[in-house]
Amino acid sequence: MSQIQRIAGRPSDIGEGMVVLRALPTRARRMVGAWCFLDHLGPVQFAAGQGMHVGAHPHIGLQTFTWLIEGEVLHRDSLGNEQVIRPGQVNLMTAGHGIVHSEDSVAGGQRLHAAQLWIALPADAVDCAGGFAHYPELPGWDDGGCRFTLLAGSFAGRTMAGDFRSPLVGLDLWSEAGAMARLQLDPEFEYGLLPLQGEVRMGGESFATDEFAYLGLGAESLAIDLAPATRILLLGGQPFGEPVQMWWNFVGFSKAEIARAQRDWEAGSPRFGRVAGDEGRRLVAPPLPWAGY
Ligand code: MN
Repeated sequence: MSQIQRIAGRPSDIGEGMVVLRALPTRARRMVGAWCFLDHLGPVQFAAGQGMHVGAHPHIGLQTFTWLIEGEVLHRDSLGNEQVIRPGQVNLMTAGHGIVHSEDSVAGGQRLHAAQLWIALPADAVDCAGGFAHYPELPGWDDGGCRFTLLAGSFAGRTMAGDFRSPLVGLDLWSEAGAMARLQLDPEFEYGLLPLQGEVRMGGESFATDEFAYLGLGAESLAIDLAPATRILLLGGQPFGEPVQMWWNFVGFSKAEIARAQRDWEAGSPRFGRVAGDEGRRLVAPPLPWAGY
C-alpha cells in the first residue's frame, strides 16, 4: 500500500440546522471510482418533535445511495415511490434524465445515523430513465471479531447485486470489541475509507471519525486495526473514466447540461415531475456559479 492520503471532511448544512460531515467531494479528492459524494449524517439524537426534513429537490446524472445505521427515514419521489428505510437497509435512486425526491424522519425525537452517497452515472447511462430500488436485506457475515455488511458490488466472494452501472464496492465493517482484519482488495479498484465511529489504524497511522483516507489503486489487501466500538465505510471502484461536473444536486459531463437542468427545475418543467403533496417544500437552487450558461 502506497502512501495513504488523509483528507479532513468538512461540516455542511443540509437545511433546517442539520449539519453533516462531507467527505466527498473535497478539494483533495473528487471521486473514488464512481462514488462522487459522501455525507456522514449523525449519529444524532433529535429533540422531541425534531428530525431530518429535506424538501423536494431534483437530481440528474447520478444515483443516490442511502445506508441507514440508526433511525427511520421516509423517501418519496416523483415516480410515486414511498419507502421507509430502516437500519441495515440501502435505498438506491437512479436520477438519470431527471427525478425529484424528499426525505423525512418518520417521527420526531428519533436517533439518526446514516451515510448518504451519490454514484456518478457513466456516459451510457447518464441520461437514462429514473428508477428506485429498496434493498431490505444485504449480505452480511461475521469474521475475526468484525461484522461485515456488503452494501454494494462484490467483496470476498460475495455479491450485493444492486442496480449499479459501473464496477464498484461499498462495505460496512463494525467491531464491538476491536479487531485486526485483512481485507481483500481488487487491484484494479481505487479505495477510500471513512471511519463512521471509533478509530482505525492502517499503514502505521491512526484515522479518527470523519477523517477520510484515500487508499489509491493497485493494492491486493489492506491490513486494518479497529479500536473497540469502531465502524468504517469502505468504498471502491474502477477509476471513473471521464471527469464529471457537479453543481447543487446535479451531476453531468458538461456545464451546459447542468445549466439546462437547473433552468428546467426553475421553470417547473415536466422533466422532473413532482412529489405528490410536497409542492410546498420545493427547494430553490442557488444561482449557477458559471457565467454564460
Ligand atoms: Mn437528494
